[in-house]
Amino acid sequence: MGSNEQLVLTVTAPGEVQIRVGDLPSPTGDEVLVLVRAVGICGTDLEIIDGTIDPEFVNYPISIGHEFAGEVVIDPRGEFAKGTRVAVEGIVPCWHCQHCREGRTNLCATYDEFGFTRDGGCSRYVLVPRRVLHPIASIHDITAATLIEPGAVVYQGLRRIQPTVGMESLVIGDGTIALLAVHLLSLWSPASIVVLGKRVAQRELALKAGATSFSTELEQHDYGLVVEASGSVAGVANAFQSVRRGGKLLLLGLTPHGATYPFPIDDAVNRDLEVQASFGYTASAWSKVVDIFNCGRYSPGFLITHQYPLLDWEKAVNSLRYEEGVRGKIVMIP
Ligand SMILES: [Zn+2]
Ligand SMILES: [Zn+2]
Repeated sequence: MGSNEQLVLTVTAPGEVQIRVGDLPSPTGDEVLVLVRAVGICGTDLEIIDGTIDPEFVNYPISIGHEFAGEVVIDPRGEFAKGTRVAVEGIVPCWHCQHCREGRTNLCATYDEFGFTRDGGCSRYVLVPRRVLHPIASIHDITAATLIEPGAVVYQGLRRIQPTVGMESLVIGDGTIALLAVHLLSLWSPASIVVLGKRVAQRELALKAGATSFSTELEQHDYGLVVEASGSVAGVANAFQSVRRGGKLLLLGLTPHGATYPFPIDDAVNRDLEVQASFGYTASAWSKVVDIFNCGRYSPGFLITHQYPLLDWEKAVNSLRYEEGVRGKIVMIP
């Protein structure tokens, strides 16, 4: 490997992952070269690897990694000093289309996201458009900044469903999105947050995140707010069952492409349900999460349970798929 090259973890096609030698990118005016310090992986990365994701959202071959943070190496315009610690907003909006003009950058007509349509954080260096760079306060561990991305996904959904203070709430799922939903929902001071999970090993993490209890069986059926974050059809069925009349239901979990659930029309109407699905995050939601991260109100670092060098990517992927013990966020270090 030459000095103008670097190793890049690449999904060449569904089911095929390789470490490839790629060119060291060099930034032009609107871009900044970022040294990746940490990159998180999540269930969506597994779907890209397996090819179960909606094909409209991925361009193979792709270097995955949409949850990453690092430091500025070269900014041709000198706006960001060398060494500035940054988190990178995963979705890159065009800022021109109708959706972007309305502030709904998550729906940008030209869908463009690190790790999906452009190479993500699974390499040592990544080119980043300056508009999606966000400086991180130096008091924080840069690794924890990888959790700004999933935090923004959760915050976007919560902001739209508008929890009311004192709600009895239920979060379905025990993965990172579910645990972050618990953590962020606490900002709205709910009366209780029950987590309905599958794996008892996740109980401690759920309680650390702010859950009032953890259960593997659905016991109650009268929650004012239910957040579906398991990404499973069974989770969606439980969500519809457990929300009370007049309650709110937020769908955050992403099931494999094409999964369906029979929508209980009369039941939803009779129960006057508010049902909200949410995709990604807007630039504004992202900025808010950076703000609460920088001021310490959002401290997701406790969720990082596994760290691997990037070259041990297979171990990282296997932990994400098969880990039986406690499993929070899995992070790779390029
Ligand atoms: Zn993710
Ligand atoms: Zn746009």
